[in-house]
Amino acid sequence: ARSEDVILSARGLTKEFGGFVAVNGVDLAVRRGTIHALIGPNGAGKTTCFNLLTKFLQPTRGSIHYKGEDITARPPADIARLGLVRSFQISAVFPHLTALENVRIALQRRRGDSFDFWRSQKVLSAYDAEAAALLAEVGLAEFAHSWASDLSYGRKRALEIATTLALDPEMLLLDEPMAGMAQADVERISALIKRIAANRTILMVEHNLSVVASLSDRITVLARGQVLAEGDYAQVSADPRVVEAYIGA
Ligand code: ADP
Repeated sequence: ARSEDVILSARGLTKEFGGFVAVNGVDLAVRRGTIHALIGPNGAGKTTCFNLLTKFLQPTRGSIHYKGEDITARPPADIARLGLVRSFQISAVFPHLTALENVRIALQRRRGDSFDFWRSQKVLSAYDAEAAALLAEVGLAEFAHSWASDLSYGRKRALEIATTLALDPEMLLLDEPMAGMAQADVERISALIKRIAANRTILMVEHNLSVVASLSDRITVLARGQVLAEGDYAQVSADPRVVEAYIGA
């Protein structure tokens, strides 16, 4: 890839916990406009890698570049402002607010307005049109006025993605978007990820290999903290080292 095609890259990314090396010299290059998956057996270092790339953990060694800028020493809030946004878990959704209110708050945050729950409805409603458009984008238009707590697991996940999109990310990092989902929701969220990838870059950690196969342009396989293989699904799934790492896990 030409260097300008790469939006996020890591070089020699390493994380040690005490004496244990969880991520060991990982090189990664995510191309702009692609869906890139990070896979590997349990304990491979996927979550740690994800946390390093979003700066929730500081690497022991190595560097991370985003859009040509060295972000290795930058705090997570800075990274989000540069357009690299991590999708939070469902716990980030406020259960006792409606879907619309949840998105509205995310929009308000992006504008840098201080979060004030008791702010007049009039001020908040300035965000309603944009919030409704985001809910439509994730397929939740008809649930705008449902309590977040009443939504199915898959729809909560879609709502969580809507609050992430409210930050207007150029690149999204998704941590196991299909975890705990029923098949109907897996299909709905897959279609949603495909849709939002039309004009964004996505890096995801995902266990569901059929989802990885159908969504990913490129896959990096980790095992024991190192890159074991990289390529498209056909390439990595035919790699005997990958097969062995999964069977041996
Ligand atoms: P994966 O997401 O691929 O399952 P993780 O990144 O969660 O893998 O973990 C990789 C390895 O690092 C595991 O052996 C795990 O026990 C270890 N590890 C992860 N986080 C910590 C931590 N905070 N302290 C010590 N060891 C950790």
